[in-house]
Amino acid sequence: MTVLSSDEINLDQLSSQYKKIILKCPFPNCNTKIIQYSSTKLKSQDIENAPKCIGIQNYPQIKEPKLSTSTSKFYQINDVWEFDNIGVSRPTEIQKEPILLKVDGEEEEEIQINIERLLICSECDRGSLGFAGIEYGKDNDHKNLNYFLSQNSVLYEYE
Ligand SMILES: [Zn+2]
Repeated sequence: MTVLSSDEINLDQLSSQYKKIILKCPFPNCNTKIIQYSSTKLKSQDIENAPKCIGIQNYPQIKEPKLSTSTSKFYQINDVWEFDNIGVSRPTEIQKEPILLKVDGEEEEEIQINIERLLICSECDRGSLGFAGIEYGKDNDHKNLNYFLSQNSVLYEYE
């Protein structure tokens, strides 16, 4: 098994070799499986003004995650059942600044997301690893929740 942080791994190359890649909790005494990587089910997104998440870099040289101030790369996951393990907590304060999802199309579009929950590890309750929210204008219904997992908050394991 090889375990690397997001800055050390080449996901495109591993995916093209059909490697099974598991995203895991970054805390050394936990490492719970969070979700299996899939380039189709985990859509890479750039987000502005996202809530602060923990980050882990230069793994395995550095073993402890730390609070990251510049998280902007997320995976968007639309179905909570894709996760093997994920926990949620309410944000301690409601973020006033809009969170913007940049959509690449013919024209760049920005979508505002209202945060409903922060994502934490369901085993050790630490995080945050991302957030869940609803697109501005959509009904405040669980079915409309989108999940955003921070790409540098997790470790990547493969054989
Ligand atoms: Zn954990």
